[in-house]
Amino acid sequence: MTRSSITIVGASLAGLRAAESLRRQEFDGPITLIGDEPHAPYDRPPLSKQFLAGDWDEEKLALTKPEKLADHDLTFRLGTRATAFDLATRRLSLDDGDSLEVDGLLIATGARCRTLPGTEDMEGVFVLRGLDDSLAIRAALDAGPSRVVVVGAGFIGAEVAATARERGLDVTLVEALPQPLGRVLGDEMGAVCADVHREHGVDLRVGVGVDAIEGDDRVERVRLSDGSVIDADAVVVGIGVIPNTEWLEGSGLEIDNGIVCDATCLAAPGVTAAGDVARWPNHRFDEFMRVEHWDNAVEQGGHAAKRLLQSDDEAEPFMPVPWFWSDQYDRKIQLAGRIRPDDDMQIVTGSVEERRFAALYGRAGKFVGVLGFNRPRHVMQYKTLIQQGVSYDEALAAEI
Ligand code: FAD
Ligand code: NAP
Repeated sequence: MTRSSITIVGASLAGLRAAESLRRQEFDGPITLIGDEPHAPYDRPPLSKQFLAGDWDEEKLALTKPEKLADHDLTFRLGTRATAFDLATRRLSLDDGDSLEVDGLLIATGARCRTLPGTEDMEGVFVLRGLDDSLAIRAALDAGPSRVVVVGAGFIGAEVAATARERGLDVTLVEALPQPLGRVLGDEMGAVCADVHREHGVDLRVGVGVDAIEGDDRVERVRLSDGSVIDADAVVVGIGVIPNTEWLEGSGLEIDNGIVCDATCLAAPGVTAAGDVARWPNHRFDEFMRVEHWDNAVEQGGHAAKRLLQSDDEAEPFMPVPWFWSDQYDRKIQLAGRIRPDDDMQIVTGSVEERRFAALYGRAGKFVGVLGFNRPRHVMQYKTLIQQGVSYDEALAAEI
């Protein structure tokens, strides 16, 4: 399949890795990346970890070194937002008034933070998605607040709480569910995560919602649904994300909790999507999924790029074993595969008490997931077994 040009909307992890993969596949036509942030593509994981801690500077966040980027001959239009796309005419409109006729289009516009209504402009209340957010939170932590309240104990909440505690700050972490990261790890393993935070001195409040965030000129306190009130001079809200698809309304693409793609990442002829914004049927797990993690953005960026260069006959389904890591204090939590609360679970090495273990998950005799606390080698080796489609019994018997 020959393409005269490829346009990528979203100049971050999935978008940049897609562009690099096109060049690796010897696509030598023009590639334009349109990104609404003013910054050159940077990596997000350190924003809640090393960068927020003050250990890394901005330069270290670059996704690709400037000299290497130059080799790829990519055209960047940064600080420019795509505002509309029309599939019938293949016109892409930009917020600077320009419009482009596109041939191949890859959409990688990611997601943005959900906010607590009414707190968006309150001083001292933050969300964390981009570099500017992390810089603002870092400055607030540098000022030595008397208490930091973190709302939501998902990934952002758990990581920001850990980083703020490691900076010696007084941290309260509030979560409506019974356990931190409960939706991802289940209650039993979420409880291990809760213990790790409590052992490090976080005041963890679970099973309680936030009724109000109050203050006159700036945030002063957080009122919880159990009637308690926590004084706070910095609040970080981490209550999930919304995929950035509004600009595609009326485009002719199907939008439903992300851009709906087929199994090969194709959303429409000559249009693919990748990363946090893409939803596709992953045949390995018989599941329509949208994955909000780093490795998926990299892999799907590459797959969606290749798909633009393939005919329908050449196209292959995208069937990864999704995985993520999350660093909290000195623990590296990693999960590969897809787990559910009613899966079978067995610890195969280490123990919960040591906070160092690998646990395997099975469903209907199939090996579907591995969770590791400080067991990176085990997680990667078991991930390969999930890829190979081994049974749960075979995984439990494997010598790793
Ligand atoms: P994004 O990174 O969201 O990039 C999308 C880009 O498109 C953005 O620059 C956005 O501004 C731009 N954009 C949006 N709309 C438009 C438009 N209309 N026009 C032009 N541009 C637009 N994952 C892990 O596995 N492990 C971790 O430890 C981890 N840590 C994280 C820490 C933080 C603080 C955050 C925020 C995320 C973390 N993640 C982690 C998740 C991982 O970073 C994301 O899954 C990944 O960034 C997704 O990449 P993406 O390119 O799909 O989307
Ligand atoms: P998240 O992991 O989806 O967690 C959000 C948490 O907030 C959930 O526990 C959610 O509970 C809770 N919540 C939702 N609405 C709430 C409300 N009104 N009040 C209180 N709590 C509420 O999202 P996140 O932590 O905000 O992270 C944002 C994105 O960054 C995600 O895409 C995440 O994958 C990514 N990220 C990933 C990593 C990593 O992989 N290590 C690290 C940082 C960020 P419910 O489930 O009940 O809604």
